[in-house]
Amino acid sequence: MKDSSELKEVTGTRAGNAILFTCPDCQKDNSIVYNMPKEFFRDTRKASCSSCRKRFTILTPDGSPVKQRVYAQPRVR
Ligand SMILES: [Zn+2]
Repeated sequence: MKDSSELKEVTGTRAGNAILFTCPDCQKDNSIVYNMPKEFFRDTRKASCSSCRKRFTILTPDGSPVKQRVYAQPRVR
């Protein structure tokens, strides 16, 4: 089920193993730490603001240090 079209898109930046983004609604600076490279190197990911709890699609179009890989879609059982 896809619901990403309902979420506002926010551009984030990569720093170390975290994604930084500023909430467009309350201007809170958020950071999300990813321990899994598979999640970290995605171009988009969903996250919620730690202050106002709104959910956004976080974009990191600045490219990753490794070559883009295509991951298979998870199989639905
Ligand atoms: Zn917020």
